[in-house]
Amino acid sequence: MPSVLEPSNVSLKVAAQALREGRAVAFPTETVYGLGALTLDPRGISEVYRLKWRPSNNPLIAHVLDGRAARALVDDWDPRCDELSSRLWPGPLTLVLRRRPGVPAEAVGGRDTIAVRSPSHPVARRLLEELGGAAISAPSANRSGHVSPTVARHVVEDFASERDLIVIDGGRSEFGLESTVLDLSGRRPVLLRPGTVTLESLRSILGEVDAPTITEQGASPGTAARHYAPRTPAARVPTSGVSAALAKEQRPCAVLCFDPAQVPAPHTAIGMPRDARLYASALYDALRSADTLGCARILVEMPPSSDGLWRAVVDRLTRATA
Ligand code: AMP
Ligand code: MG
Repeated sequence: MPSVLEPSNVSLKVAAQALREGRAVAFPTETVYGLGALTLDPRGISEVYRLKWRPSNNPLIAHVLDGRAARALVDDWDPRCDELSSRLWPGPLTLVLRRRPGVPAEAVGGRDTIAVRSPSHPVARRLLEELGGAAISAPSANRSGHVSPTVARHVVEDFASERDLIVIDGGRSEFGLESTVLDLSGRRPVLLRPGTVTLESLRSILGEVDAPTITEQGASPGTAARHYAPRTPAARVPTSGVSAALAKEQRPCAVLCFDPAQVPAPHTAIGMPRDARLYASALYDALRSADTLGCARILVEMPPSSDGLWRAVVDRLTRATA
């Protein structure tokens, strides 16, 4: 089993030392838990890919303390980045920009761009400070393709056989969904992945922002149609269509729905909040719980809206059930 450490000053020093030695460390952020290594150390980066079973062309997000640290990694920081970072950093917004030649290709899946984000979680920030502001590249701390972790226990479940892995426990991730990814490296800003920072708020700052549909997003690795998925086959059910869908099921299902009273035995209901923010923060725990019930299928009632924060929720549900 990995070692789970409380976020004391001593554990943060231990974690920082492990990172300096070229090892990977799991740590909390306000989006999901990350599995990090020093951006500039190819040894640690390859350890992250090995542990995650992640394809080496799927790039990582570099976590930085602030805009100044981000500028050390990118070539084309411009006034839009100043505007976005001063308004939305630290927070769940990732910017894709052209990478400086000094950033190892391994840290960006061989691309000439790099994704940068400044996390707001106090433990992530203390770890970055402990490293003197060096960047930490970190994908979500789950095995590739599985549901992202929002508590330390999820990380331990995915990496149960990794005895050398350190997991810093920072409680439940506040937002519970991966960051919004905005590509600023091309002619027009493109939303690569919806998240808690909404398309609407990005458009209010930048004007036009393109938003490809999920199928088109296969262009960016990690935004492939099927991702973030539980192991049990999962299917979407239209809003208010739970009873009709269950009438056709012969075997027990786990049902993520807004009204658990509609779900008769032998099925198991997992009640979901009607508020988008609460829904987002509960979603991955609900999918992981549903996965442990030994059901034939997981059914997910779709939210009543796909605007604002619901866009990110619908995106993850669509991928989880693809
Ligand atoms: P994860 O940290 O597991 O949520 O994955 C990070 C995601 O950020 C990747 O799967 C990509 O979708 C996106 N990303 C990271 N770096 C880049 C990049 N250089 N260009 C485009 N997308 C990126
Ligand atoms: Mg991930």
